[in-house]
Amino acid sequence: METDRTLMTDEKWEAIISNDASYNGEFFYAVKTTGIFCKPSCKSRVPKRDNVRIFQHAEQALAEQFRPCKRCKPTNERLPDHEWIAVVTKYIDKNFNEKLTLEFLAEVSHGSPYHLHRTFKRITGQTPVEYIQGIRIGHAKELLIQTDRATSEIALSVGLQNVPYFITLFKKKTGYTPLEFRRIYEEGARNG
Ligand SMILES: [Zn+2]
Repeated sequence: METDRTLMTDEKWEAIISNDASYNGEFFYAVKTTGIFCKPSCKSRVPKRDNVRIFQHAEQALAEQFRPCKRCKPTNERLPDHEWIAVVTKYIDKNFNEKLTLEFLAEVSHGSPYHLHRTFKRITGQTPVEYIQGIRIGHAKELLIQTDRATSEIALSVGLQNVPYFITLFKKKTGYTPLEFRRIYEEGARNG
């Protein structure tokens, strides 16, 4: 019986977690949560086994919209910086309500924090932190307008546990406190 070569096995999983270079070329693994694929030898953070997909060829991973890892270069080409940063912004856009640090983002995108910070700023004109703040405040504005949830609840739903910090940040970015923002919007809506 021929075994399906794209099946995850204990042997492949062992190769992934031990970064075993002798398996390079035999298979590639992609991580669903980050959209990146790697060689077995890659020294990046070990993913959850459930989130991993196995491919026999790099082309198959590319065809399914996975991007080559910047660190282990599974296609033996360098990932262009703007594609690397697109991986990171996409991750932030989807996970803005979780705790996001530069170190963590560097890990999920397989780069170093220092390099990520610099490249992110060069490509987007913002630091990763500024970008995250912008996304969070954007979502907070929507929640203030579309719901009657309390400020503390909104802070939590956009990933900020610290409510006073959320209010300060919101005011810095918009010029208003969250409640002022909501009131002004409601008055504007009433007055047509
Ligand atoms: Zn890799």
